Amino acid sequence: MRLHHKIIQLALLSGLTLSANAAQAIEIVFDYRFDRHGWFSDSTTDGLARRGVLQQAASAFTHFSDSLSAITPRDDNSWNVSFQHPSWANWLERVTVNNLDVAQDSMVVFVGASSFNGSVLGAAGSGNVRASGDQGFIDTIATRGQQGAVDNALTDFGPWGGSIWFNSHINWYSGLDDPIAGSTQADLLTTVTHELAHLLGFGLADSWNALLQRNDQGYIFTGANAVAEYGAGIPVDGSAGHWAYGVVGSIDGQPVPNLMDPSTAAGNREYLSDLDYAALRDIGWQVSAVPEPSTIWMLLLGLVGVFGRWRRKTRPLDLDA
Ligand SMILES: [Zn+2]
Repeated sequence: MRLHHKIIQLALLSGLTLSANAAQAIEIVFDYRFDRHGWFSDSTTDGLARRGVLQQAASAFTHFSDSLSAITPRDDNSWNVSFQHPSWANWLERVTVNNLDVAQDSMVVFVGASSFNGSVLGAAGSGNVRASGDQGFIDTIATRGQQGAVDNALTDFGPWGGSIWFNSHINWYSGLDDPIAGSTQADLLTTVTHELAHLLGFGLADSWNALLQRNDQGYIFTGANAVAEYGAGIPVDGSAGHWAYGVVGSIDGQPVPNLMDPSTAAGNREYLSDLDYAALRDIGWQVSAVPEPSTIWMLLLGLVGVFGRWRRKTRPLDLDA
């Protein structure tokens, strides 16, 4: 078993050498099989617009250059993942997917929507994973070749993908152009990007949790890149899955709300801030250069989450209709 493990690592290393200068990008593949109410239907104008928003959001992660091993279940190598149904009828409804193929450098994200009479915009998680087979296969499920995901130091993350639920009760803006100031609609692009960042491990990965430190007020995030960006350890919210309220980020030197705080205002579009990207770097992603917001939306990238925890993006209650 040990020897087998080593051989796999060597093979990965040589693969990396061969493609060292190739433009690598992580692709997020959206899967609509659990979209039971047709919120993303490709035969409706609204559904197509929402699909376009998903693709646009995925492009915020295009410049991540990690290499993720393919998950290829065959013969005795099998796995399954159980997660909250993306179009749940009740919050506890779960679904299990058996032996999903996940291509190299890609993540699979199941999406759907259902109506919930509340201000929660969406939720994302990567479910509970079970795998059996040879050690190499099991390692791939756990790390996707990102060895730091299981080292004692827990410095990396290699997710398979995850699922995202959207609240169809919300009055959404599904356009790609900036929302109109003063609108009472919630911006779908902002919410999708936020949820995808969770699936990439923000607030979810073991490598995120490993960088939390307790202080008098609660927890602070101590990742080196984020601390360099912010100037100190960064306070996180009560769930330790977001920045705390009031933590200001920046894009291009201009102060902005961070995308990865717990809420967003209606009529407002937010982008990943330099601080959000710095934290993604700290949990193991190779983020080559942070693109300008206007040029973010060119490609596809993505990914994942950890086992069984959910993160939600909510609107402040005072913005509820
Ligand atoms: Zn969130």
